[in-house]
Amino acid sequence: MTHYQNILLAIDFSDQGHYVGQKAQSLAEQFNAQLHIVHVLDNIPMPGTPYGTVIPLHEKSPDELLEAEKNKLIQISDQLGIAPARRWLIWGEPQQEIIRLAAQEHIDLIVTGSHGRHGLAVLMGSTAKEILYHAQCDVLAVHL
Ligand code: AMP
Repeated sequence: MTHYQNILLAIDFSDQGHYVGQKAQSLAEQFNAQLHIVHVLDNIPMPGTPYGTVIPLHEKSPDELLEAEKNKLIQISDQLGIAPARRWLIWGEPQQEIIRLAAQEHIDLIVTGSHGRHGLAVLMGSTAKEILYHAQCDVLAVHL
């Protein structure tokens, strides 16, 4: 059986996110893998930081929307025991940034929810589907 070493949890802060997070955490424990987490900011204007599109979590920003998103990511990461160096907040287009980050960090399993903020109208959400089609590694879409 494949032993995953680097697992990436993609979290969109929807209500079911904690369930997807628990699955990713238990897989990481099972495989003794490093757990990474990413949230892609696609619903707020590009934050004015000097750092580009990867938003540092330890720097305070005057942007209230950005601070709120940061705090959500920090809270979930703390709950799941994810090390600060493996927490990612990135501005951009979700599927593109998740796939790019997965390649950069040598991720061998991406964990998403089958649905997210875009609702339950279709069998599988668009972000999850795009990741499944285009990622270079395994993808687990947790059924919601
Ligand atoms: P969707 O396909 O947009 O309904 O979302 C399905 C899953 O994709 C969610 O449960 C998350 O795991 C992931 N996802 C969607 N949007 C984002 C985002 N902005 N940042 C990180 N993960 C996301």
